[in-house]
Order: sequence, then structure tokens, then C-alpha cells
Amino acid sequence: MGLLDLSRQLMRRCDDLGAISEERGQLTRTFASPAMRRANKLVGSWMRAAGLQVREDAAFNLLGRWESKKRGAKTFLLGSHLDTVRNAGKYDGPLGVLTAIAAVQLLRERRVELPFHVEVVGFSDEEGVRYHTTYLGSRALAGTLTAADLAHVAEKQIVKARRPRGEFFGYAEVHIEQGPVLEEKNLPVGVVTAVAGQSRLQVEFQGAAGHAGTVPMKQRRDALAGAAEFILAVEAIAADGAGTVATVGKLSVAHGASNVIPGHALLTLDVRDQRDSQRLAVVRALRAKAKAICKQRGLELSWKPVQQAAAVPCDKILTQIFSNCVAQRGLEVLKLPSGAGHDAVVLAAICPVAMLFVRCKKGISHNPAESVKPADVRVAVEVLADFILRLAKNCSGAL
Ligand SMILES: [Zn+2]
Repeated sequence: MGLLDLSRQLMRRCDDLGAISEERGQLTRTFASPAMRRANKLVGSWMRAAGLQVREDAAFNLLGRWESKKRGAKTFLLGSHLDTVRNAGKYDGPLGVLTAIAAVQLLRERRVELPFHVEVVGFSDEEGVRYHTTYLGSRALAGTLTAADLAHVAEKQIVKARRPRGEFFGYAEVHIEQGPVLEEKNLPVGVVTAVAGQSRLQVEFQGAAGHAGTVPMKQRRDALAGAAEFILAVEAIAADGAGTVATVGKLSVAHGASNVIPGHALLTLDVRDQRDSQRLAVVRALRAKAKAICKQRGLELSWKPVQQAAAVPCDKILTQIFSNCVAQRGLEVLKLPSGAGHDAVVLAAICPVAMLFVRCKKGISHNPAESVKPADVRVAVEVLADFILRLAKNCSGAL
């Protein structure tokens, strides 16, 4: 089967896999659900057809292995996740797994021999829908689950999925971009530089509730007006940060009524950047701004960090190999950060990682309207197959 047929087959497989759901009329496939078991069975059959040895590990990760004949060879891991959010699209996750299978199939048909083993993985939980604990599948494999994580999970045996340290010498993941940058630049694929770090905070403005008709404007301590001023400052300050993104996604006004001056407003703040120092500088600047707003308006501020994650840089050498593969197709090499988290973040704890983004329509994801072009998928398969070949050339002496 040539590249064209392989990528057509891949598109059909995305459709078939997209029909396997635990909810009627929409795509939802969560960790360890019957739908996921059916999905693993189907994808496992495709792995077998590509010549891979298939098994499911203790964390329901699906694994397909291509053994090298070379003695003492290490393993390179390719893949993404097979679980979905509720009412999902067909490509977030599965595209990466199926692209890896197609690339392996292409190389095996060309009778390529590699100096390392290749394992294709379909992780069982990236989205964290079932237990609100993201990356269960990849963290089980990487051996980075904590007792606190396991406290929420019924399937305690998932820790047995842990693989020995040093077994993998790298991980590469193909994923839809989930953003509009590639579409705007009219490019099929892009090379990921890092997964952005993230600060999540809860910010509260405390003022004084009062009668909307009787308290003069100058004597008000309107918490919502303060929050509104802050929200616009978030937008403006992040825009100055060249690459920083900041979002107030939730705002709640206590005892909201049309004839009451808001006495309390609570909002969430999400700040991301691939440079940790820049992200932290923006958070500091926003805090100073919130304090200034509160001082001027007679409000009290509560500033609570909820969650913080450092940026995860992609490996320079693997990323360069991806860039060379893209350039060889005569395409502009666009390097971009990922604003969303991926399994690669987890794998980065145990081996070098790299990611390739595929353009998706209007940047839409986590939505049934997710869409990719067959021609872009063809480029992704070709680039990934080429990546494996170049990797083999790079390290045939070293391994
Ligand atoms: Zn994903």
C-alpha cells in the first residue's frame, strides 16, 4: 500500500474509531470504559495488520511493538491517546496513534530494518474525564503516579504498567494543533518547541453590597466594576507579553441582582507561556494591577494560586530532525509552542520528547466539528516515517 492509500485508510479509520462511543449520538470514550476496550480491540487489529506485536498493559494502554533484530537495542515510542472528552471530535488523540501505525506500516512495507525497537502506544487517559486526573495512562507507563493520584482511582493495578527507566530513548507525538496558527500560515504541519507552562489562580474582589438606587456613585465599593477593570487589564498585559496568553474563563457575582451593587466578585485566571520566567512576570504584573485597582476602589483583594506547571521543552535534537523532515518536503518550518497539555509532557520525565502539529479546521478541538484535511494527514505520515528513518541514521552508530 502506498502513501496515498495509507493516508486514505487512516482517514477512514478515524471515522470508524469515532463511531465507538459510550454515549449515543456523540463521541465520548473515557478511561477503562467498555467503549475504550472496543476501541483498543479495533486499533489493536490495525496494529497487527501493520505487523506489530500487540498487547494491552495494566493501565489499558494499547501497545504495538516492532522488534529490531539488533541486540541490546533500546525502544523509541510513538503515539498519542485514544480517550476523548465528552462530545468529542474524531482527531484529538486518535490521529497521533493512527499516524504512527501508518508510518510504521509504510516503513515495514519498504522492508526497512531499524537499529532500535519501535513501540506505538495508544494511551488510555489523557483527558482525565473519568477521574479528573489527567494523563493516567502515560503516567502509569512512565511510573510517575503518586499515592494522591491513585486515591481517586478504582483500578489500582494500573501502577503495574510502569516500564523500566532507560528503556525508552525518545517519544514522538503527532497531534492536531487545537489552535488556528497553522491555518493562518497556510501550512499542513508545524514543529512544536515546548508545551507551555501554566499558572491557574482564583482572584476575589471584596467590596460592599448596597442599594442600586440610594448609594451615590462616589461612595460605592463595587466589586464587579473592579473585577471588570481587572479583566481588561489581563487582556492588555498578556498582549504585551509576546506569546503569553491569559484568560479569565469564569466570573461569579455573589447574590447578583439587578438592583444591588455587587459586593463580591470571584474570577479564575489562567496564564500560559512557553517561557516560565515570562509567565511568572506576567502573573506578578497582574497581581500588582489588581492591588492598584483595589486600592483605588476601596476593595479587598484575595489572590490564590490554584495550580502551577512549568513549561516542558521539546528535545532539541529530535525537534531538529522533525524540522529537517518538514523542510525536505519543501515546506516552511514553522516552530510553535503548544498551549495545551499532551502525553509528551509526562514522557518528558523519562526521555527526550518531540511533537508535530497537524493543521485543523479553524483551530477547533474538543468539539464534534474537529476536522483535518486528508492531504495534511498524508504529509504527517510521510514526515513521521521520514523522522524514524533519519533517527535511525542519526543513532545507528550509537545504539
Ligand atoms: Zn489530545
